[in-house]
Amino acid sequence: MAVIKSNGYGHGMARVAATLADADGFAVASIDEAVELRAAGVDRPITVLGGFFRPTELAAMGDYHLLPTLHRIDQVDALAAAPGGAPIDVWLKVDTGMHRLGFHPREAAAIHTRLAGSPRVSTLGWMTHLANADDRASAATDLQIDAFDRTIAGLSCPQSIANSGGILAWPHSHRDWVRPGIMLYGASPFLTDTGADHGLKPVMTLTSEIMAVKLYGAGDAIGYGGTWVCPEEMAVGVVAIGYGDGYPRHASSGTPVLVNGVRLPLVGRVSMDMITVDLRGCPTTAPGDPVVLWGNGLPVEEVARRAGTIPYELLCGVTQRVHFEEMDGE
Ligand SMILES: *Cc1c(COP(=O)(O)O)cnc(C)c1O
Repeated sequence: MAVIKSNGYGHGMARVAATLADADGFAVASIDEAVELRAAGVDRPITVLGGFFRPTELAAMGDYHLLPTLHRIDQVDALAAAPGGAPIDVWLKVDTGMHRLGFHPREAAAIHTRLAGSPRVSTLGWMTHLANADDRASAATDLQIDAFDRTIAGLSCPQSIANSGGILAWPHSHRDWVRPGIMLYGASPFLTDTGADHGLKPVMTLTSEIMAVKLYGAGDAIGYGGTWVCPEEMAVGVVAIGYGDGYPRHASSGTPVLVNGVRLPLVGRVSMDMITVDLRGCPTTAPGDPVVLWGNGLPVEEVARRAGTIPYELLCGVTQRVHFEEMDGE
């Protein structure tokens, strides 16, 4: 199931669903997202990873043919007590170590037995979520997979464990359904490499252009707070992108920016609408010249690390102000 929550990791949920029309299913976080997909004409199975918050929302699961992920006992109670209607497929979530959502492994068998006998349920699957799959050296993932296997031993049901990290680094986590998210967008789930290391290509390229080129002298301080000071007479480029567009304000001086295809360092603070770049590495730069903030030629993972965050947050965070253009991939 292709995970396209949070507006398709910032790429446009309906756009991603249309591009991945052959996926066996989709997964989103909320009922609202799922309903939006149905309105866009998506007819594949849609898993709602957050389940439902109150019993009144249960009807939407049947109406829109969605698979809730049940992780609280009151959700199980609500489903078992629901008045007639066609039975629905559900996922049950077991907490094997993430310690966020999910039933305790020792509760699993009883819940399974109860729902397996319910006329409200057709297919009952079990899933778990990996907490440390971003770190290939972590022993926690194997422990979680073992805990999952012990939990579902003897239960006959569809199984799902793997997010992108599991898919790429733990083959025995694959099971019946995998749940790729970040890798679909060409970025790596791991902390220390990039999508290219896994043969992935960036789907999103965030671009802008140079809006001004200025010459400053030694000692001139650039931008809010004057946190970066020119060490010599030099050209500084102003790029039309800022945190109002989703470029991270925490990107530090030195974060790479591609200007005319040349990697140049960001200098000074990120403003709402602008950033400033040291042009000494490309002194012929002029207003109108193209700038890539991340994507083709500049991995989003690298920018994320310089900003103390992860590519997920940068991709999800591109704001409404940014104009989206859809290009044909090869
Ligand atoms: C978001 C999410 C995924 C996808 O994770 P990636 O790391 O982006 O591949 C898979 N499963 C669940 C339960 C999720 O919440």
